[in-house]
Amino acid sequence: MLPYGRQSISEEDIEAVTAVLRGDWLTTGPAVTAFENAISELSGGHRAVSCTSGTAALHIAYAALGVGPADEVVTTPMTFVATASCAAMLGAKIVFADVDYDTGLIDPAAVEASLSDRSRVISAVDYAGQSADYSALQPLADAVGAKTLADAAHSVGGSADGRPIGDLADVTTMSFFPTKNLTTGEGGAVVCKDPAIAQRAHEFHFIGLVRDPSRFEIADEGPWHQEVHEYGVNYRLTDLGAALGLSQLRRLAEFKRRRTEITARYNAAFADTDGLRTPVQRAGVDPMWHLYPIRILGGRRREIFEAMRAAGIGVQVNYIPVYWHPVFAHQGYKRGLCPNAEQFYAEELSLPLFPDLTDSDVDRVIETLLTLVGQ
Ligand SMILES: *Cc1c(COP(=O)(O)O)cnc(C)c1O
Repeated sequence: MLPYGRQSISEEDIEAVTAVLRGDWLTTGPAVTAFENAISELSGGHRAVSCTSGTAALHIAYAALGVGPADEVVTTPMTFVATASCAAMLGAKIVFADVDYDTGLIDPAAVEASLSDRSRVISAVDYAGQSADYSALQPLADAVGAKTLADAAHSVGGSADGRPIGDLADVTTMSFFPTKNLTTGEGGAVVCKDPAIAQRAHEFHFIGLVRDPSRFEIADEGPWHQEVHEYGVNYRLTDLGAALGLSQLRRLAEFKRRRTEITARYNAAFADTDGLRTPVQRAGVDPMWHLYPIRILGGRRREIFEAMRAAGIGVQVNYIPVYWHPVFAHQGYKRGLCPNAEQFYAEELSLPLFPDLTDSDVDRVIETLLTLVGQ
């Protein structure tokens, strides 16, 4: 089965990881520091905190933003469940705002209609690898005293209006799962524009330990002393993962070039095909295409999905609207809440897209799909 996504591991990547195994630190050593610095550099210079997954990054981000039971978080239903569930776990009420039918990105007008004096965060998702419209979302957040969060699990390596991912929202989260744009095995990062929020993110992911003597409440305990002011978890990335991530970052531009090339090949093959709709690119965005979300019209998505799988092509569907998950449905979120997202979901099919996909693989995907839709 041709997978829909897959990591690309080079000999240099393998050497970078084995060098860590031969060294002094397996975790929280020089590779983690270097990787965080490199992510920061990629993200407009804001502080980056690395962590164990994109889900952990979302949990850290919401905790660092102080999200709690009195708060509402406005987000998109067209995402992986963690964008919403990590805020819900902290007690926040999730308010779903519908997406733009063309792009699957959260619609700023729907966000505006969903805001209240309890809104604490607007969480957008850079669906498929193109960034949401933060230049519209940021003023909406500012007007109610909320913060913007970019779930950039798909878009690491991209930019919008000349500004890189990480520089577009108050807080940005990334995932380095194997199918994502670069990998650390499991891993993620949080990038924060406000240094105080970044420090809270760091402490939350590091058991809540405070190590700066100038902040100690217990004075003169001794040079070994560190203390806890707020609860935290251990979400630290290992040096093994960080070394792999650093090596992968050197290849990110090449990954982007190849993802762009494959996307263009699909776009050219499917343009103007009856029964198909190619992805729509938002103006001003330089995407890092993580998914190729084609739309299958005429109610045929499931049939085409099954036939593609039967032909050995590992297509996927991204995503079931988040509030359809029983954990949300049981709380009273009803189907029909976000009609554009539901229609998008009904039509969406993600075709294989990853840097090591060969042109002949791409052509086989194209021929198979065109035959199935009767072209
Ligand atoms: C993958 C993903 C996550 C979670 O990342 P993990 O590293 O798998 O925990 C969160 N949000 C989106 C949009 C994702 O695609």
